[in-house]
Amino acid sequence: STEAVWSAVDDYLTGHLLPDDPVLAATLEASTAAGLPPIAVSAAQGQMLHLFALMLGARRILEIGTLGGYSTLFLARALPADGRLVTLEAMPHHAEVAAANFKRAGLDHKIDLRVAPAIETLPKLEAEGAGPFDLVFIDADKPSNTDYLRWALRLTRPGGIIICDNVVRNGAVLDGASADASVQGVRCFFDALSAETGVTATAIQTVGAKGYDGFAMIRVCAA
Ligand code: SAM
Repeated sequence: STEAVWSAVDDYLTGHLLPDDPVLAATLEASTAAGLPPIAVSAAQGQMLHLFALMLGARRILEIGTLGGYSTLFLARALPADGRLVTLEAMPHHAEVAAANFKRAGLDHKIDLRVAPAIETLPKLEAEGAGPFDLVFIDADKPSNTDYLRWALRLTRPGGIIICDNVVRNGAVLDGASADASVQGVRCFFDALSAETGVTATAIQTVGAKGYDGFAMIRVCAA
């Protein structure tokens, strides 16, 4: 099937381009063993996040939606010695698994894991002066995408980048009558984004081990 080819090509590409990585493999194994859903980014996508962070020279990264911390590790590995990543997770069980994964990876000292609904943590981050962030990765509950976009825009430095995952959803993004709250969340996100001045944005459709989907990329313009 087409999906089998997408997955096989992902294996081929990552087999050539990504080194064998026992720490990342252990992260996925621990996540599966703990019953977390298999909804982390693919290895190729994780490496793309890693490259974005390197290209930006990111020192401050915010992630919304931790799960077992697989994407977090790709991002945190791009940080310099004094870099910091804040990652937001609502479910205590997911956060426990992620915390163990960060420790195993030797990166827990760079990662600030906040366990609460992100919509509660985001204003606290602003009040604490935790930002501005160079890179924000939005990958949590999709119905809240527009809220997360607004917070990301407040918390990202001029010239910084916001990435939002799962914005194509097997093409369902086209369906304005969809009963799926995640589809409506993505559509609302694009409506809000299209009305935003002061950003340069695109979205890229993707196929691979995670099926047919896509990500949006937004650069916050200098004032
Ligand atoms: N970024 C992760 C990765 O690629 O490895 C995957 C994240 S997973 C798609 C989405 C995560 O967001 C889940 O762990 C879920 O519990 C969390 N989540 C859902 N609603 C949330 C909320 N309101 N605030 C914070 N996290 C939430």
